[in-house]
Amino acid sequence: MGILDRLASVLSGKSAAGHDENVYWLYVQCSACGEKIKVRVNLTSDLLQNYDEAGGISGYELHKEILGQRCFKLIYAHLTFDRQRKVTGHEILGARLLTRQEFE
Ligand SMILES: [Zn+2]
Repeated sequence: MGILDRLASVLSGKSAAGHDENVYWLYVQCSACGEKIKVRVNLTSDLLQNYDEAGGISGYELHKEILGQRCFKLIYAHLTFDRQRKVTGHEILGARLLTRQEFE
Protein backbone atom coordinates (compact mmCIF):
# COMPACT_ATOMS: atom_id res chain seq x y z
CA MET A 1 0.00 0.00 0.00
CA GLY A 2 1.33 3.40 -0.94
CA ILE A 3 1.72 6.30 1.43
CA LEU A 4 -1.12 8.18 -0.27
CA ASP A 5 -3.46 5.22 0.07
CA ARG A 6 -2.51 4.86 3.69
CA LEU A 7 -3.13 8.55 4.26
CA ALA A 8 -6.46 8.33 2.44
CA SER A 9 -7.57 5.44 4.61
CA VAL A 10 -6.55 7.33 7.73
CA LEU A 11 -8.43 10.41 6.59
CA SER A 12 -11.54 8.43 5.73
CA GLY A 13 -11.57 7.08 9.27
CA LYS A 14 -11.04 3.43 8.43
CA SER A 15 -9.07 1.69 11.11
CA ALA A 16 -5.93 -0.28 10.34
CA ALA A 17 -7.60 -3.35 11.80
CA GLY A 18 -9.95 -3.25 8.84
CA HIS A 19 -13.68 -3.51 8.61
CA ASP A 20 -15.35 -6.49 7.05
CA GLU A 21 -15.53 -4.93 3.60
CA ASN A 22 -11.74 -4.79 3.55
CA VAL A 23 -11.31 -8.43 4.43
CA TYR A 24 -11.30 -11.33 2.03
CA TRP A 25 -11.46 -14.85 3.41
CA LEU A 26 -9.51 -17.47 1.54
CA TYR A 27 -10.57 -21.06 2.14
CA VAL A 28 -8.25 -23.88 1.13
CA GLN A 29 -7.87 -27.58 1.77
CA CYS A 30 -4.34 -28.91 2.18
CA SER A 31 -3.57 -31.55 -0.48
CA ALA A 32 -1.23 -33.41 1.84
CA CYS A 33 -3.41 -33.93 4.91
CA GLY A 34 -6.85 -32.64 3.96
CA GLU A 35 -6.92 -29.96 6.63
CA LYS A 36 -9.29 -27.12 5.85
CA ILE A 37 -7.66 -23.77 6.45
CA LYS A 38 -9.22 -20.32 6.55
CA VAL A 39 -6.95 -17.36 5.83
CA ARG A 40 -7.78 -13.74 6.48
CA VAL A 41 -6.61 -11.35 3.78
CA ASN A 42 -6.60 -7.64 4.50
CA LEU A 43 -7.51 -6.02 1.18
CA THR A 44 -6.09 -2.68 2.26
CA SER A 45 -2.67 -3.78 3.45
CA ASP A 46 -1.88 -7.25 2.07
CA LEU A 47 -2.22 -6.60 -1.66
CA LEU A 48 0.52 -5.57 -4.05
CA GLN A 49 -0.37 -2.95 -6.63
CA ASN A 50 0.04 -3.61 -10.35
CA TYR A 51 0.50 -0.69 -12.70
CA ASP A 52 -0.51 -0.27 -16.31
CA GLU A 53 1.71 1.38 -18.94
CA ALA A 54 0.40 4.84 -18.08
CA GLY A 55 1.40 4.37 -14.46
CA GLY A 56 -2.14 3.95 -13.18
CA ILE A 57 -3.21 1.08 -10.99
CA SER A 58 -4.36 -1.79 -13.18
CA GLY A 59 -5.12 -4.19 -10.38
CA TYR A 60 -3.72 -5.95 -7.37
CA GLU A 61 -2.20 -9.27 -6.49
CA LEU A 62 -1.55 -11.27 -3.41
CA HIS A 63 1.12 -13.82 -2.63
CA LYS A 64 0.50 -15.75 0.51
CA GLU A 65 2.26 -18.66 2.17
CA ILE A 66 -0.09 -20.71 4.26
CA LEU A 67 0.85 -23.25 6.87
CA GLY A 68 -1.74 -25.49 8.46
CA GLN A 69 -1.53 -27.03 11.89
CA ARG A 70 -1.68 -30.70 10.98
CA CYS A 71 1.33 -30.93 8.68
CA PHE A 72 4.34 -28.91 7.65
CA LYS A 73 3.58 -28.67 3.98
CA LEU A 74 3.64 -25.04 2.92
CA ILE A 75 0.81 -23.89 0.66
CA TYR A 76 1.38 -21.09 -1.82
CA ALA A 77 -1.51 -18.94 -2.92
CA HIS A 78 -1.35 -16.37 -5.71
CA LEU A 79 -4.49 -14.33 -6.27
CA THR A 80 -5.16 -11.53 -8.70
CA PHE A 81 -7.65 -8.74 -8.17
CA ASP A 82 -9.11 -6.01 -10.34
CA ARG A 83 -9.03 -2.33 -9.44
CA GLN A 84 -12.12 -2.76 -7.27
CA ARG A 85 -10.26 -5.48 -5.34
CA LYS A 86 -12.53 -8.22 -6.62
CA VAL A 87 -10.81 -11.56 -7.20
CA THR A 88 -10.15 -12.23 -10.89
CA GLY A 89 -7.95 -15.29 -10.70
CA HIS A 90 -6.22 -17.64 -8.36
CA GLU A 91 -3.49 -20.22 -8.38
CA ILE A 92 -2.95 -22.42 -5.36
CA LEU A 93 -0.03 -24.79 -4.95
CA GLY A 94 -0.31 -27.58 -2.43
CA ALA A 95 -3.98 -27.08 -1.73
CA ARG A 96 -7.40 -26.85 -3.29
CA LEU A 97 -9.46 -23.69 -3.17
CA LEU A 98 -12.72 -24.13 -1.30
CA THR A 99 -15.88 -22.10 -1.32
CA ARG A 100 -17.12 -20.89 2.03
CA GLN A 101 -19.89 -23.52 1.90
CA GLU A 102 -17.37 -26.30 1.30
CA PHE A 103 -15.26 -25.04 4.15
CA GLU A 104 -18.14 -25.07 6.60
ZN1 LIG B 1 -1.57 -30.29 5.59
